[in-house]
Amino acid sequence: MPQSANINPSAIRTDPVRLPLLAEKNIQADMLRTDLIHPVISGNKWFKLRFYLEQAVKEGKKGLLTFGGAWSNHIHATAAAGQMKGLTTTGIIRGEKPAVPSLTLREADACGMHLYFVSRGDYRTKSVPAPVNDPGLLLVPEGGYGETGARGAATMLDGCNVNDYTHILCAVGTGTMLAGIQSRVSGNTRVTGISVMKNNFSLDSAVAALLPGQPLPVILHSFHAGGYARHNPALLSFMNFFFLETGIPTDFVYTGKLCHAFYQLTDAGYFPSGSRVLLIHSGGLQGNRSLAEGTLIF
Ligand SMILES: *Cc1c(COP(=O)(O)O)cnc(C)c1O
Repeated sequence: MPQSANINPSAIRTDPVRLPLLAEKNIQADMLRTDLIHPVISGNKWFKLRFYLEQAVKEGKKGLLTFGGAWSNHIHATAAAGQMKGLTTTGIIRGEKPAVPSLTLREADACGMHLYFVSRGDYRTKSVPAPVNDPGLLLVPEGGYGETGARGAATMLDGCNVNDYTHILCAVGTGTMLAGIQSRVSGNTRVTGISVMKNNFSLDSAVAALLPGQPLPVILHSFHAGGYARHNPALLSFMNFFFLETGIPTDFVYTGKLCHAFYQLTDAGYFPSGSRVLLIHSGGLQGNRSLAEGTLIF
């Protein structure tokens, strides 16, 4: 994997999203392409990690320890970002060690990440197993959740005139990015998060905890396409359609569900005529490699 490239936030641009349905409904939409900052460390994961990396260096830690699954964008980005910063990385991975590790895990390993596999039951406790417990490591919560992650995610919007938009939409896993984005907008811009998990209603309080005393975003729970990292034919064919129409690739776990939700909401009249919508491309394209070859046209 190309380790030499630096993180380049100045590569972020907004691309117009042009679709016949949007013209018909008189909606204007742009996509904030944070997926373009680096070929490997995709989109929001680096932004969520940036202040954890700074904190580790400032506190004289030798590395980072965090959690994730076999195709986790967070594990992938932590391994690459740690290597770039000269910090060691340890990943506590959900599930027994597979005979053939995923591409994501092989690449994390190639970045020097120490992979420590735990059973799904043990993983759920989010406790650090004794063999990898080391005070020299900064513990980063799963997905970079927390005030530090949200503060970093807010900087995805640096250089973007957010208050030009009536609505901002992003995909939601832990809600860290959603909270960061909400913290950056004025009362005239409505922020909506599309949850990619099924019935993950604890999200609302997880996001509220990151925004004490502040206005809260809306979270929609009906666009998960079957659950976390699940997909269905409608989602996959929409992603191909969206790429053909706009030239923008999406991932099936997060940004594909975001764009599909946006399309269905537009069709249902969710956005008033004249709305200006900003969609956040939060990266994650590496995860598409878990799909059978030929599923996507990009
Ligand atoms: C992790 C991830 C998200 C979700 O971010 P949270 O801050 O956990 O809500 C969205 N999009 C992509 C591409 C991601 O990798």
